[in-house]
Amino acid sequence: METNLCEVQVNVGSLNPTNQKQISMRDATIVNIRGIEVGGSEIVVFAGPCAVENMEQLFETARLVKANGAKILRGGAFKPRSSPHSFQGLGLEGLKLLSQISKETGLPIVTEVMDTRQVDVVAQYADILQVGSRNMQNFPLLKEVGISGKPVLLKRGMMATIDEFLQATEYIMKEGNDQIIMCERGIRTFETSTRNTLDLNAIPMLKSRTHFPVIVDPSHGTGIRWMVPPMAKGAIAVGADGLIMEVHYQPEKALCDGQQSLSPEEFKLLMKDLKGIALAVGRTI
Ligand code: PEP
Ligand code: MN
Repeated sequence: METNLCEVQVNVGSLNPTNQKQISMRDATIVNIRGIEVGGSEIVVFAGPCAVENMEQLFETARLVKANGAKILRGGAFKPRSSPHSFQGLGLEGLKLLSQISKETGLPIVTEVMDTRQVDVVAQYADILQVGSRNMQNFPLLKEVGISGKPVLLKRGMMATIDEFLQATEYIMKEGNDQIIMCERGIRTFETSTRNTLDLNAIPMLKSRTHFPVIVDPSHGTGIRWMVPPMAKGAIAVGADGLIMEVHYQPEKALCDGQQSLSPEEFKLLMKDLKGIALAVGRTI
């Protein structure tokens, strides 16, 4: 049967961006992950290591992010690495560790699926399927995660326009899945002093053009640990519905992205500071 879900989406092609109203809270899509609502008035923090490395690393990191207010545990089992010689993730073993730690801590998990052939297995273990930046326009993958019916965390492609990002959500919706969280994670520009350029313009723009929750990844958006807290605060100030951040119990020993991972103390301090920012914009965290 044909689905009409895609018609719920604001028509991305026909809007004049200079003349838009905010989508009202009443029309917002709330993505519910085992009782945690993303897209409502509460700001939801997703945190955890870049990659699942071993039981101790995942458990210790999960424990500390939970104790400081994170609601969802992140961690890659299948990692998209620029070099084939870098650590590629633990694969299935990583999924099993995530699932075990999720049971022990009660935190739902988000983890990346890189390939259509992995969708079934990742969906068996994860609460949210992450489609990474490099795959935002992998249309067969968007279709498969749509068919899976699982909540999807869709990261913005590093060269993708806002229109392309919105159209990617329509591929997922077309399969009858409207449980989508969009994530701004920085785009490639001429600037080389940071890993990416975190496009905070994208937050109010997306919030005016889609009913989906929009979260921000200041870890990949900057690539630099000390820049994560100020950009996380900025993201909340401009209307993000949540944050996804890399945290490691021993960042200096991380197998992946240690340079942008917050230490336990840094994460704790940031979560305290974010409460004040949330309050200032009429939200809770
Ligand atoms: C990640 O979140 O682990 C990741 C690889 O991010 P991105 O796809 O945004 O580069
Ligand atoms: Mn990473």
